Amino acid sequence: MALQMSSNRIHMFISSFIRESSNVKDPDSLLLSLIKIVQKFINCEWIAILDKDLNVRKSDLNDIKIEQDLLEMIKWSMEKMSPTSLVKDQSTTLVFPLMKTNKVLGVLLAKTEEEPVFEVFELISTLAFLSAVVLENLDLYRSLEKQHAIVEETMNYMRQIFNSFPQIVVVLNSQLNPVFSNLQYLEREKEPKLVEAIEKVARNVLTTGSRQVKEVESEGTFYSLIAEKIEYEGETQVLLSITDVTNTKELERLKEIDKLKTDFVASISHELRTPLAAIKAYSETMLSSLNDLDKDTLSDFLQTVYKESLHLESLLDELLDFAKIEQKAMVLDKVRFDLTELIKEVTQSMSELAKSKNVRLEQDTNGPIFIFADKKRIRQVLINLISNGVKYSKENHEDKFVKVSTKLNGTSVVVSVSDNGIGIPQEYQQKVFEKFFRVGSALDYRTEGAGIGLTITKEIIELHGGKIWLESRVDEGSVFYVQLPLGE
Ligand code: ADP
Repeated sequence: MALQMSSNRIHMFISSFIRESSNVKDPDSLLLSLIKIVQKFINCEWIAILDKDLNVRKSDLNDIKIEQDLLEMIKWSMEKMSPTSLVKDQSTTLVFPLMKTNKVLGVLLAKTEEEPVFEVFELISTLAFLSAVVLENLDLYRSLEKQHAIVEETMNYMRQIFNSFPQIVVVLNSQLNPVFSNLQYLEREKEPKLVEAIEKVARNVLTTGSRQVKEVESEGTFYSLIAEKIEYEGETQVLLSITDVTNTKELERLKEIDKLKTDFVASISHELRTPLAAIKAYSETMLSSLNDLDKDTLSDFLQTVYKESLHLESLLDELLDFAKIEQKAMVLDKVRFDLTELIKEVTQSMSELAKSKNVRLEQDTNGPIFIFADKKRIRQVLINLISNGVKYSKENHEDKFVKVSTKLNGTSVVVSVSDNGIGIPQEYQQKVFEKFFRVGSALDYRTEGAGIGLTITKEIIELHGGKIWLESRVDEGSVFYVQLPLGE
């Protein structure tokens, strides 16, 4: 007897199937609900769903035999994309391809003794079509999920690689917000100086479009920043790779000191050799011609030997002071004394030296200024600054001078030693206080010196709680300022 159905029931079946199928998460559950719904309106011997390779995917009976004639029918139905049925031995096997547009995903088979009416046949066709749509969507959803997992895994993989870099890596979008970074960045993103430098180079890349390189110091670490433009989804972004170069810098500094030391040994040997050579030459002459020399010549020779030995002594003193500074062993012996008086004494004792170089040595001071300091060391500072002023005077200048002035400034006094000599280029003005540093080459023997006088001077001033700085213009002259606290 042919099965019959009211259109209301058909409507109800379709809507309940749509509701059910929209909730399923996997193809197996969908196929099961398809089988269950078909069972509701056909009395079946069995129902089965085959995949497109004709393997049984789901059925309500375990052992289904598909005979050759049925197999031919199935193939025909799949090829023509059309439902059909095979009537044999008083039973009918209905064949519905599960298809969507021009794609067949499988086939629904239902073996029944009751041949269904046209409406039921149509209904099952429709359900098979709906199932195919849902199956394909599930497939798409699964492949999307798979792709999403692949993207996620690739991202993790990349992140692991970026996290293993010693560099900080960060990508900023056009609003300068980080859109990608490694762990190293997250550890440092709170350092204001670094973040400021990152934003500055990134801004430059965005405005100029070209690669930027910058170095920055933040919280005791030196960083080298390289920033490049990259494009992502139509937006210009900035990729930054930031390397900690503190060790490289320290190495460079040590190499520089090492070179300075080598130069220093060469220059100090030269410095020591000059007075020594003079002493040797004069004493040899005196020894070989003692009886031939008159008293005046002998006295002149002895004067030179004495002067050169003093020079030698002062060089050795300077070296010893330097060694003390290196070992942090310099101690002060403070007394209360009049600085104006000391300046007078030093300028007087150095006037001969200045005169020999055609330099006027002037003092511009006013009344006594008492300070509590190590007199010997302050004398040494004055001698060093004045002798530098004389040493670095301009060779062919008519009116050369070195002037020592004092100025009271609250609880301190500022001594300035000015000259109209060769001056110091701006880029070296801080370096002159560094050990072994000499403007020009350390091996330039035109002026004597080992490049440690100002290092010692600065150390002495700072040990007194004072400050030293300078102003200078090339070819015009220099002023060295020394600020010292007044006496107690
Ligand atoms: P040096 O023994 O070479 O004089 P210093 O430490 O006293 O060593 O000075 C360091 C360097 O600073 C000098 O070599 C010189 O180049 C520069 N300098 C110091 N004082 C002056 C000055 N008054 N005018 C120009 N250059 C100076």
